[in-house]
Amino acid sequence: MTDTSLQAIAEWDHATWKSFAAELTVDGRNVIDGERRDALDGSVIDSVDPTTGRIVGRIAGSGASDVDAAVATARATHRRGDWSRLPPRERAAVLFRWADLVETNAAELCALDTVEMGRPISDMVQYDLPEVVTTIRFFAEAIDKITGTTTATDPAVLHYTLRQPYGVVAAISPWNYPLLMATWKFTPALAAGNCVILKPAEQAALSALRMADLFLEAGGPPGAFAALAGLGEHAGRALGLHAGVDKITFTGSTEVGKELLVSAGNSNMKEVALECGGKSPQLFFADLDDLDTAVDSAIDGIFDNMGEVCNAGSRLLVDVAIHDEFCERFAERAAGRYVPGDPLDPATRCGPLVDQESCARVTEHIATAARQGARSIFAEVMPGGLRDGAFVAPIAYADVDPSMTIARDEIFGPVAAIIPFSSEREAIDLANDSEYGLAAGIWTSDLDRAHRCVRDLEAGTIWVNTFNDGDMTQPFGGWKQSGNSRDKCIESLIEYTQEKSAWFSLGESAS
Ligand code: NAD
Repeated sequence: MTDTSLQAIAEWDHATWKSFAAELTVDGRNVIDGERRDALDGSVIDSVDPTTGRIVGRIAGSGASDVDAAVATARATHRRGDWSRLPPRERAAVLFRWADLVETNAAELCALDTVEMGRPISDMVQYDLPEVVTTIRFFAEAIDKITGTTTATDPAVLHYTLRQPYGVVAAISPWNYPLLMATWKFTPALAAGNCVILKPAEQAALSALRMADLFLEAGGPPGAFAALAGLGEHAGRALGLHAGVDKITFTGSTEVGKELLVSAGNSNMKEVALECGGKSPQLFFADLDDLDTAVDSAIDGIFDNMGEVCNAGSRLLVDVAIHDEFCERFAERAAGRYVPGDPLDPATRCGPLVDQESCARVTEHIATAARQGARSIFAEVMPGGLRDGAFVAPIAYADVDPSMTIARDEIFGPVAAIIPFSSEREAIDLANDSEYGLAAGIWTSDLDRAHRCVRDLEAGTIWVNTFNDGDMTQPFGGWKQSGNSRDKCIESLIEYTQEKSAWFSLGESAS
């Protein structure tokens, strides 16, 4: 039998991945109460490979009645305590086995995201899959590190607090890192003892559905983790409005995040944790240490994952003193680095966009940039033979005015906007002139300046002399309209618990 573990697949070549992907067995049915089920009304949605346009398979088109069934099962499981009242070390043991199973099934999970969404297979193997495994192990290790408090009360009183699971948590995830973004949501929610219903994005749901199978295989109780495929406006909306859901955790667009806040208000005031869009700036000061390193980071920060990254460094704010040299080196160093190609080829760093709709939207942004007077300083050459795919070649513009659409809208494609500045104050004001506040990068060798920028920039994550770096200890989430919660860190585990206060009267002392 072929070894499909994470270790083995690091050596696979293009031909091996192509034949493995061609033989993938795809099951797009829901996982509810420990079993695979079709949508109750039989609806299905085509899953399309954006590289070729071929149909990969069909996923369930779940609606409100499927959501009702999943919520009823999750609620009953929670009330029985099958998962929430397991000793923490037993819950941890399930999660550790789950992480091991993800490692042994790595080829399938990687290939599913690549064929459904176009993420380059080398990024799946080197980054996403290892991160998924690390995420599960991180929260498994943290399960019994959550504590309550006792407070300094009158001696006739004992007061302590408990942190307990909410009950039923619905996780709604995006398609841009399909497996990883979902894992950042469902793992801490499960580790905290909640029952979870995951609604992955309809464009790339198959890896998430497999995660629910693997949870059962690891010994997770049926009913603790359900995965429902379906459209956002059907299954997602029904979860947002459901009175049996205690908390929604969402990663996706700001527009849908706002709708979920309204849905919570119109239903049961469920807690709503949001990770939404971004338009992240990188600030390049003339005193930066090494221009080539900074330029490489600018290129990777916007072209990696085809620019379909919430914290993509899409606004490159460059000191006028180095602006022209920055643009020249950008064009030189970007050429040949992200050439569009088959994402199943381990040499490919730029796959297609997620679908033809995204391709048309990003292409329209590019046309608007030219119309509004932005000057293209770099455009990757599109190789032949990719006509059936949703490919967009990376492009960068200089002379971008902060009022232009490419400087303001989240494009979610490989489009860089270079904007000059003349002073530190102007750079900070330009950076903060956005409805978003997810992340920012600063490039400088002046320590005082770095600290001033960290202090003044309105964003949840600030990188200094690096970009898009981090580990599981780092809280990841946004300010402003980029969101209101944090993924990854210990605090995110705590966010999936609610506090209870217990106040005891101890009465008179026994004499
Ligand atoms: P999206 O908002 O269209 O969809 C996200 C999820 O919400 C999907 O599962 C979708 O089916 C569901 N959904 C859609 N409409 C819904 C509705 N009316 N009610 C409930 N659920 C609904 O976003 P997307 O296109 O999948 O992802 C791209 C967006 O995600 C970008 O804006 C990106 O910045 C953001 N994102 C943010 C982070 C972060 O950590 N801040 C990470 C990744 C992606």
